[in-house]
Amino acid sequence: MSSGRPAGTMAARFAPPCCAGLLDRARATAGFMPDDEGLALHELAHRATRGRSSATVVEIGAWCGKSTLYLGAAAYAEGAVLFSVDHHHGSEENQAGWEHHDATLVDPATGRIDTLPTWRRTVDDAGLGHCVVGVVGESPVVAGHWTTPVDLCFIDGGHGEEPAWADFTGWAPHVAPGGWLAIHDVFPDPADGGRPPYELWCAAVASGDWAEDGAWGSLRALRRIRTASS
Ligand code: SAH
Ligand code: MG
Repeated sequence: MSSGRPAGTMAARFAPPCCAGLLDRARATAGFMPDDEGLALHELAHRATRGRSSATVVEIGAWCGKSTLYLGAAAYAEGAVLFSVDHHHGSEENQAGWEHHDATLVDPATGRIDTLPTWRRTVDDAGLGHCVVGVVGESPVVAGHWTTPVDLCFIDGGHGEEPAWADFTGWAPHVAPGGWLAIHDVFPDPADGGRPPYELWCAAVASGDWAEDGAWGSLRALRRIRTASS
């Protein structure tokens, strides 16, 4: 009996994703992640989850799903789950009149940025719906109710003083012993970008809780060597 669907559509949609294909999709997705940093993030997610059962990756700041795919491709390959946290209304710098605004992402019904439909399409079209979970809400609220130890936490949410520190103080304590914290947009030279991500990276290093474990462009990785001191 015919389902009425065009022949081949289902097979194409549910073909298992392949890593190279997922990385190509990540490159083609709108967002703020250069490919070399995305590939480093992807490798870090492999390292953080390999050989662990039920490994947990958390992303703070997804936008349209670019970093979600770099991370999600590794989560898929390693049998891990990626929780992608975003309220999907954009950061301060994404609002009208700011540098990183995209008017095509404004919901005409509300006048607000809404990247959730695009993010969902990115994840579904990549075939990652079973291992990527969207958590839609304020990052500090989610962090405050979170209880699962995290193997890799990637912080790339709001970059202003208040949201960046709230992400760090809210999420860093959830990183498991031996787990990784990755921070994006760390710019030691103020001429290259805003200060808060760099400042919280400095604070993390100074705390003695973390060992530096790699730098690629503005992406920095830290590995937990001591239980949270605060
Ligand atoms: N990682 C993305 C870019 C993220 S941009 C990429 O690879 O392209 C920053 C994102 O953080 C935005 O989508 C914004 O909605 C989200 N964000 C900012 N502040 C937030 C908060 N307090 N809670 C949840 N999400 C937040
Ligand atoms: Mg970023």
